[in-house]
Amino acid sequence: MASLSDIETRLFLNNEFVQGSSGRTFTLTNPATEKPSVSVHEADAADIEVAVKAAGAAWKPWVDLDAWKRAEAVSTLANLIVQNASKFAELDALCMGTPVAIYGFQAMAAAGVLKYYAGIGADASGKTSLNTANHLNLTLKQPYGVTAAIIPWNTPMLIACAAIGPAVMAGNAIIIKSSEKAPLSMLLLAKLVKESSLFPPGVIQFVSGFGASTGALLSSHPAIRKLAFTGSVNTGRIIKKLAADSNMKSVSLELGGKSPLIVFSDANIEKAAADAALSIALLSGQTCIASSRVYIHQDAMEAFKTQFIPTFQAILGKAGDPQDPSTTHGPQADSNQFGSVMGFIEAAKRDGLVPVAGGEAVPQEGYFLQPTVFIDPPSDADILRKEIFGPVVSLSTFLDEEEVLARANDTEYGLYASVYTKDIQRAIRLAKQLESGTVAINCTSPLMAFDIAFGGYKSSGDGRQFGQEGLEAWLEVSWPHLTA
Ligand code: NAD
Repeated sequence: MASLSDIETRLFLNNEFVQGSSGRTFTLTNPATEKPSVSVHEADAADIEVAVKAAGAAWKPWVDLDAWKRAEAVSTLANLIVQNASKFAELDALCMGTPVAIYGFQAMAAAGVLKYYAGIGADASGKTSLNTANHLNLTLKQPYGVTAAIIPWNTPMLIACAAIGPAVMAGNAIIIKSSEKAPLSMLLLAKLVKESSLFPPGVIQFVSGFGASTGALLSSHPAIRKLAFTGSVNTGRIIKKLAADSNMKSVSLELGGKSPLIVFSDANIEKAAADAALSIALLSGQTCIASSRVYIHQDAMEAFKTQFIPTFQAILGKAGDPQDPSTTHGPQADSNQFGSVMGFIEAAKRDGLVPVAGGEAVPQEGYFLQPTVFIDPPSDADILRKEIFGPVVSLSTFLDEEEVLARANDTEYGLYASVYTKDIQRAIRLAKQLESGTVAINCTSPLMAFDIAFGGYKSSGDGRQFGQEGLEAWLEVSWPHLTA
């Protein structure tokens, strides 16, 4: 781990690292030790004004560049990220406890997203039509100009690059607000933006701060025309209202999930159990696509349970220092997160539910929780309905396809669903009927395909990231028409 004194903690405005105008800082806590780590500068209203002004001056000359020059800048940034992948993993481990061993791939995936958009970013073509008498109709795709993205703590690099890539390839300038829980990897990314020397001042800027202050300032700023938000449903609601009440800016929302995974009796049970365990264990259950509701046909329940529980426990078998490459089990990201997950477990116990595995904190320093499994909770139980964002899973028995489909769809969420079966007709039926932005057949999270649109149905979101759709999200469409 690099020395703490080498870590950048200031704001990145206009291609320079600067202290926040208020001089205020906030201190991060290492979730594996519960001890303070570093203090980070907080952006206030004056800093946001500087950022917005710089972005306003930057985007027009930026979009006037040939697209291949923007692509060169984005690809160069991607290459620098690859060269620094282990440092990103160390910083995320320090902030939110993700073990370096299992999460080193995040920076590589983030670089992959940037390279994908460097490749397709010039292909923002419109159409022509002759369908009006004496007219040539065109569509023209143009950047919004000043844009922003508000990032969660759990996968900051991936989410930030999924915004930066398409936003700047489309010709926008973007201000990134990191999560107050995980600002450090964003500030390393800022260092690389500067090191690349290919982004003019103001094209990509980074601010740190809290949601209700720095985040709200961006959400309600009248000069910001497009905002991408990734985070919880509750915050998404607040941001959409702030955006509507300010300048009706375009908002895309990537929100939470409560993802069902359905296992039919004809499935490869061993694979289903192994995949399901990895999905909920990854990042100690702190991923939006975690398969946290597993429905198993009654004929397969015993076999599934017997394989799933020890696999889940084995994946989270070594709790400890996230910087240690042998650690497999990281803590919850902070005391709030830990308290919230424990709250769900305690409430379930008070309601008479007894976990068949786990259900307690790991008895050591840090915000570690045991892998926890409940069987057949009632359909109105919070552990079955709410996004817990921890290593807590429910295994529920079902009898037939119609019933399990109804139960899987009985949720406000619609981000991700998985089906395990060898019956291809059934797989197709469920892929069409599950109310979910992604339906995985005989596999489950985490799988990434940068060229495929990703996003949520229902309260899980609005809009799509990745793929061509992820580029279009950063473009306005206008209709020039020429008369004969
Ligand atoms: P969060 O909603 O608490 O915070 C996300 C970001 O919003 C942070 O930067 C925070 O500072 C900011 N914020 C908070 N309140 C704000 C306000 N009033 N105005 C403006 N900004 C505000 O979410 P989190 O705890 O950081 O992340 C976990 C959530 O993110 C989970 O629900 C998870 O499912 C979701 N998530 C979704 C995806 C996806 O692609 N759908 C990916 C990752 C995480």
